[in-house]
Amino acid sequence: MNLTCIECKNQVDLSSYSDLAMDSVVECQTCGITLLVTSIDDNTVSVEIMDEGK
Ligand SMILES: [Zn+2]
Repeated sequence: MNLTCIECKNQVDLSSYSDLAMDSVVECQTCGITLLVTSIDDNTVSVEIMDEGK
């Protein structure tokens, strides 16, 4: 599955999230933002910003 960070536009590595589903929380390794999964359509994961981070 592919996820592009909506904050920094970099690819997020989802390999550590084996059971990714709606409402899963993932963290962008590049900018550290926390993202909430809103939908998964085939190999495309949609997210919204959950936490602006520090
Ligand atoms: Zn990011």
